[in-house]
Amino acid sequence: MSFRARSRAALADAALQKALANVPPGFVAKRARAVAAWADFESVRKTAAAHKRAVLADLETHLARFTERAEAAGARVHRAANAGRARAVITGILRRAGARAVVKGKSMVSEEIDLTAALEEAGFAVTETDLGEYIIQLRHERPSHIIAPAVHLSREQIAADFLNAHDDLPPDRDMADNAALVEEARAVLRQRFCAADAGIIGANALIAETGTTMLVTNEGNGDLCANLPRLLIVIASIEKLVVDFAGAANLIRLLARSATGQEISVYTSFFTGVRRDDEAGGPEEMHIVLLDNGRRALLGTPFSDMLACIRCGACLNHCPVFQAVGGHAYGDVYPGPMGLALQPALKPAALEDGIIEGCTMCGRCAEVCPMLIPLPDLIRQHRFRAHEKGYGARAVRGGLRLWAWLAARPAAYRLATRLGGWLLRRFPMLARARGRKLPAPAGAPFMVRRRS
Ligand code: SF4
Repeated sequence: MSFRARSRAALADAALQKALANVPPGFVAKRARAVAAWADFESVRKTAAAHKRAVLADLETHLARFTERAEAAGARVHRAANAGRARAVITGILRRAGARAVVKGKSMVSEEIDLTAALEEAGFAVTETDLGEYIIQLRHERPSHIIAPAVHLSREQIAADFLNAHDDLPPDRDMADNAALVEEARAVLRQRFCAADAGIIGANALIAETGTTMLVTNEGNGDLCANLPRLLIVIASIEKLVVDFAGAANLIRLLARSATGQEISVYTSFFTGVRRDDEAGGPEEMHIVLLDNGRRALLGTPFSDMLACIRCGACLNHCPVFQAVGGHAYGDVYPGPMGLALQPALKPAALEDGIIEGCTMCGRCAEVCPMLIPLPDLIRQHRFRAHEKGYGARAVRGGLRLWAWLAARPAAYRLATRLGGWLLRRFPMLARARGRKLPAPAGAPFMVRRRS
């Protein structure tokens, strides 16, 4: 199915439209308040963006340093060139440890490599423990947002899923408010945490100077995944590296405000190696799997800017296309502007279904991006590639060819715009398309007015 077809289906989905209506008053308004209240936003943004670019310019050195420090602290670091290799490494670790029950924290990299499905296929019992991820796992869906995986669902839909999945609970229990649903999920997940043989979490940063992985969550589920089971596996992509704690601290400050408008996430945890003799908690065995999956190939290209992305989701929340169609319309793991810029860079075949049309070039994503990533420029470059390869709707390609022909012939262009204006004034029904009414042309064309 093409991006257009998925978008049409999303626009016709009343429940989805109701859920998406909460995005601007929620995420957008909260971010705006948090940024307005923080005088240092612009300076920290510039410092963090420069720090990340400097790390990317010398990635191998920082990777080697991180590996050495993490292994000195008792962790084992694995490099995975692609998704298949990462899945094989993680499956092998779990098998060797004799693990069966696995609790998992939220990680977009694990979504990228389809980890949960692969582990389930290999016979492991995997429970997603982030509330949103748990909900979509019950529904066998992918996340629709990089920080709010179940943002596309209503409370009623979630209550129906819980009734279906938790069939050992009384069917007439009260599920009328969010607190009741959270309490129910909490009770179920507690049992899974206590019974787990292994925990798998992601990382928001890899701190090279100490070999530490940093994780932020609002639910504390990542800490339970990391500290209760005997075995901990961290999966992270290679661009998560920062030099030191100061670099990581700036990311935390930007991430929380840009994502949810919080000054800081509820839990920020740092994991360095295995449990020491004098420590009460922590894993006895720790593995860190560093995924490349096409990232190194981006270094030195304009798309290396995407390796600075901290997955805050601000560009999604401010995107008029995402607000209208939601994340599933993009058809892959990363939606919204960051998805349009990243997905085809990692996987050129992603251009084939027309996702690159899902951008109005309004530029709001670049304005809010805390890492100063020029998203519209990157998306435009993908559009050139898509056009060269002949992808996209025939009408759009034909329209572009016509426009290019006219733009190179000023007299014909003037004639066409005059004719277009006359037609729209004379036949206003032409300005109505699929229920939308365009405003009538405002008198003489711009070029005529500019001359007068
Ligand atoms: S591209 Fe920028 S705004 Fe979008 S998720 Fe990444 S860091 Fe956040």
